[in-house]
Amino acid sequence: MSLETRAIHAGEPSPRIGGAITLPIFQSSTFESTRESDYHAIPYLRLNNSPNHLALHAKLADLEQTEAALVTSSGMAAITTALMGVVKSGDHILAQNGLYGGTHSFITHDLPALGVSYDFVDLNDPAEWQEKVKPNTRAFYAESMTNPLLRVGDLPAVVGFCRSNNLVSMIDNTLASPINFQPANIGFDLIVHSCTKYLNGHSDIVAGAILGMDALVSKIKIKLDHFGATLDPHACFLLQRGIKTLSLRVNKQNTNAFAVADFLEKHENVSQVNYAGLSSHTDHHRAKNLFNGFGGLLSFDHVGGGEGAHAMIDRLRLVTEAVSLGGTETLVTLPAESSHAGVSKSDRETIGIGDGLVRVAVGIEGEQDLLEDFAQALDG
Ligand code: PLP
Repeated sequence: MSLETRAIHAGEPSPRIGGAITLPIFQSSTFESTRESDYHAIPYLRLNNSPNHLALHAKLADLEQTEAALVTSSGMAAITTALMGVVKSGDHILAQNGLYGGTHSFITHDLPALGVSYDFVDLNDPAEWQEKVKPNTRAFYAESMTNPLLRVGDLPAVVGFCRSNNLVSMIDNTLASPINFQPANIGFDLIVHSCTKYLNGHSDIVAGAILGMDALVSKIKIKLDHFGATLDPHACFLLQRGIKTLSLRVNKQNTNAFAVADFLEKHENVSQVNYAGLSSHTDHHRAKNLFNGFGGLLSFDHVGGGEGAHAMIDRLRLVTEAVSLGGTETLVTLPAESSHAGVSKSDRETIGIGDGLVRVAVGIEGEQDLLEDFAQALDG
């Protein structure tokens, strides 16, 4: 069946509980014992096995075409728990350059304190992977698209490299969402999501997910049970509701983002647009081969630098300045002041994140309304 149909029907309890068309919220911390012999199977909310959790796990695994899934209390909980489930003290990981800031901080600050070392690599340079892989390398961590420049690495080559070097291949698929890309179909072992973004889609919860083969996900569930990063039942309910409209939202975000990117590229106050859907983007052909759509996130350089970008944002009427992405409403941020505030100006500029770079997380508003808002704000 199609992804649209599966997003609605997969994982729903059968028979329906009490006949409810929408799975109700099980606001119960504990459930009647069935004398389980395994601690991790005891029906208790922190052990991630309430009816709300089990339905979400089945729905997400179906969407990402994996054997198993877990939901977590945030995207960062998914990322840190998945990594901690794969590495141990003395191990080393390879990770892509330009990762999401929270992941970058965890890898560079927390993992070394736990005895895990790392090397960052260019996802377009397999020779560098070969140079940096070590006998104790355990995993290779990548993102399907990077934020805010929307670079798309050679993901099939990463999978091949991991297979030949016996590494766990891990990917954050938040920005693509399963509508645009399903990493398990090209062989990734572990997939993580910030469900805060497209999967929930309404900017009203934080949540995460870990997906992959049953054996690996079961091992990670033990860590999740210990860390206690459980998604609460109300957030489970909202996430399950959000996922049902994932396809409608992401397809609209794909078309809106393309229209905004195309408009911006022609505007005299914009010097560069980063959107993998544009033929001018360095990774356009790779993204076209790998993805069903190019997503709702883009960024552009204002010719007036930081000052020009600020003035433009102040003139926006419909679009709001806020962090995050994947919601119904269009948001803008300046990465130099948000996701990359901790990076020095010269390092930022080397990687293409200047003071005038504006990130746009496109929502599902009417395309014409968005174009008019950006036009009046850019024309000043
Ligand atoms: N991964 C990506 C690509 C993100 O953009 C974010 C948040 O912005 C995260 C992970 C972290 O997710 P959360 O804020 O749900 O912890």
